[in-house]
Amino acid sequence: MTQVTALGMPGIKEVRPRTREGQRFFIRTFGCQMNAHDTERIAGLLESDGMRAVDSAEAADLIVLNTCTIRENADTKLYGYLGSLKRFKIENPDLRIAVGGCAAQKDRDMIQERAGWVDVVFGTHNVHRVIDLLDHAEEWGPITEIWDETRTVTDIPSGLPVLRESDHSAWVTITIGCNNSCTFCIVPIVRGREISRRPGDVIREIEALASTGVKEITLLGQNVNSYGRDLDLNGHKPLFSDLLRRVGEVAGIERIRYTSPHPKDFREDVALAMAETEAVCEQIHFPLQSGSDRVLAAMHRGYTAERFLEKLEMMRSIVKDLAASTDVIVGFPGETEEDFEATLAVVEAARFDNAFMFQFSPRPGTPAAEMQHQVDRDTIQQRFDRLVALQNRITFERNQEQVGTISEVMVEGPSKRDGSVAATRTRGNRLVHVVGTWEPGTMYNVEITRAAPHYLDGSTVS
Ligand code: SF4
Repeated sequence: MTQVTALGMPGIKEVRPRTREGQRFFIRTFGCQMNAHDTERIAGLLESDGMRAVDSAEAADLIVLNTCTIRENADTKLYGYLGSLKRFKIENPDLRIAVGGCAAQKDRDMIQERAGWVDVVFGTHNVHRVIDLLDHAEEWGPITEIWDETRTVTDIPSGLPVLRESDHSAWVTITIGCNNSCTFCIVPIVRGREISRRPGDVIREIEALASTGVKEITLLGQNVNSYGRDLDLNGHKPLFSDLLRRVGEVAGIERIRYTSPHPKDFREDVALAMAETEAVCEQIHFPLQSGSDRVLAAMHRGYTAERFLEKLEMMRSIVKDLAASTDVIVGFPGETEEDFEATLAVVEAARFDNAFMFQFSPRPGTPAAEMQHQVDRDTIQQRFDRLVALQNRITFERNQEQVGTISEVMVEGPSKRDGSVAATRTRGNRLVHVVGTWEPGTMYNVEITRAAPHYLDGSTVS
């Protein structure tokens, strides 16, 4: 039995036998949506080689770890988990273990030095090579293949098979890498310079997804607002706002989201495209990081608190009923009480619907890890608790403002706590519980009847 599989770079198709027919794989994913989407591609490749996904490492012939280096303790968790897999390998020498993602890219040969039972280590630009690398490991022994920053990666492999978690909702990568240099962030080091996919490739992928019943698309990039700057389409550089409008024309796509924009690069044209393109949801994830200009400068963020708030106001004036979420880092090196209070003031003024709040932890390899005046853990914890309390209050107030309003929701599936209740999302990405059961992807209108601190209750309206 053979299957056509895109194994090489874009446009190169190879025909290969399905060499792992009947074998089982388990993938554990750490980190962000980029990684979650890469996991879907890895799963698609493995499935195209004859394998099937299972839910536990114990039942697998191949275990893949798709790693992250951003979150706190990510390295400790990775090596702890790898340590726990050693026993599996001793008990079953035919088991294969592969490690990909940002930690693989950062640590390179160190992974096999610290965990000699790992068969394959692959970098952030080597996902499309995973089958070949497994073949190599089985024939010749352990292998590490990561991309090398001395070689420019100029293209994103398109057309890889993808095994998606959801039938109605899909991620679509529009850029990889990042040209910024935020001093707390490892992404530019492990994912390289920014590369944009050509708009035609993006649209073709979305049309193909729509033809399979996908209704909701989330466009992914580290900084979607710089999309297209590296492209040259007969002298023309496509803008992110152009792309949003084109995606909005794809028949069958009812909801478009994107993450993440960068406040420094966000311009009015994107807000106008959001307001004028019906399928684009009234939702923005707008990462503040700090409300102190001094800290923002040390982070290399490229904006001030005042400018951030002006841009948020501009968006809200153009996009009616915009829901906004953010990221905030507490305890960046040198952050004083005064700096932290500036963050509280901006969070109060911005009235975000939701916030992802992080305690600063130094990531090896980033400039911030080497900075003087690291803030002690107790101070970070106390400030963090104050910020969480403030944002929880604001989130609850924002939720209460929704009571009595009518919202269109899309069903995600049964609620985890009660199978007779559906977990649904509004266009603003608010979680609404509705009594009843519906197929995931079903859309209908609800009246919001009650606000809880982190979700809403609703009842259907005709
Ligand atoms: S914009 Fe900053 S935080 Fe975001 S990926 Fe690039 S360097 Fe990291």
